Amino acid sequence: MKIGVISADIASESRVAITPDAVKKLRKLGFEVVIQSGAGQAAYYADEMYQAAGAEIASSSAEVITQSRIITTVNDLPAAAIEHLTTGQIVVGMLDPYRNTQLDAYAAKGATAFAMELLPRTLSRAQNMDVLSSQANLAGYKAVLLAANEYSRPFPMFMTSAGTVKPAKVVILGVGVAGLQAIATAKRLGAVVEASDLRPAAKEQVESLGGKWLDVPMSEEEAQKAKATGGYAWTPSEQYIKDQAAVVDKALSNADIVITTAQIPGRNAPRLVHGATLAKMKAGSVLIDMAAGTGGNVEGSVPNETITTDNGVRIVGAANIPSMLAAQSSDLYANNLVNFITTLIAPAGDDASASDASANLALNLDMEDEIQGALAVTHDSQ
Ligand code: NAD
Repeated sequence: MKIGVISADIASESRVAITPDAVKKLRKLGFEVVIQSGAGQAAYYADEMYQAAGAEIASSSAEVITQSRIITTVNDLPAAAIEHLTTGQIVVGMLDPYRNTQLDAYAAKGATAFAMELLPRTLSRAQNMDVLSSQANLAGYKAVLLAANEYSRPFPMFMTSAGTVKPAKVVILGVGVAGLQAIATAKRLGAVVEASDLRPAAKEQVESLGGKWLDVPMSEEEAQKAKATGGYAWTPSEQYIKDQAAVVDKALSNADIVITTAQIPGRNAPRLVHGATLAKMKAGSVLIDMAAGTGGNVEGSVPNETITTDNGVRIVGAANIPSMLAAQSSDLYANNLVNFITTLIAPAGDDASASDASANLALNLDMEDEIQGALAVTHDSQ
């Protein structure tokens, strides 16, 4: 059974779905692998490295698709590639399920498409397939470095004979996987960090990393809601949004760096920083809007652009930070995919050995399975 690897559009995406190391793991499971030429180039994985790991190289996405039973991709496939799909093929990738306008096309081709973002994250056996976590963790780290690069002062405190340098004040809004890594990274660089989230459970995590919790008052009803959503974001009341805006306004008036990470699957990102607050911020302060690609947490942020407001505040619309760490983010993403693909094959019999693994390989598609069922966005032409 062959697994195909489609190249992303290198102009906007540097990651690759399967790395040479992942090819070795898939070969060990009994798969053959074919990769579109140049797919790993932007992540520093050359065709020769894939060949050395046991993959074949194909010259086009069409050639990859026509040979493969399972097709792996970083993002949604281009329309021209979907055209080549046939009944029974499987596509695995970050398919952006809530905003994907091509799902009918996948279904019309009879393909089973798995969107990795839909993984049930609280399921312990799914944790090694959690692409949102693997990519957000790296993105939270890199967001701090981007901010440090844009900022015209250092992060740590320095005592010098020419004077004392004050530590940077960093505010993190949204403390999920990315936000926690951003706190840890900013602390390591010597900044003073404050953070907020609408999940009360995040308070303890912020404090355990040495950050200060920015508290937004919460009604009893909201506290109950927060509990009921099992640790995921809930829809805040008008009053909460107003109180939160006041807390953010006060914290940001004094901040040097702000990193916003708040996203809500299937919906536009919440607006957390308004123009009136931006107008109060110091010249030279920097905001990194990690939700810029899904509507933006910061008013006026533009995906993949850095803008400077009239009062000298820089807003970085960081729509795809994982792509900036393409080598590492590809490694982790590929591991996530291999772990998921492993669930798609029937368990090998006791007497199966590596040499006959290929002959034993059988697909085990099961929409009753809590992982496969959650990830499938098209199946059986539906
Ligand atoms: P995310 O990227 O969807 O959002 C980032 C953070 O923004 C979240 O903490 C969210 O609560 C917060 N947020 C959303 N709307 C907000 C608003 N209006 N105001 C303030 N904050 C807001 O988050 P994520 O990193 O994907 O994590 C989401 C949840 O999943 C967290 O509870 C996290 O602990 C949990 N999680 C669990 C597991 C697991 O159990 N294995 C793994 C990963 C994440």
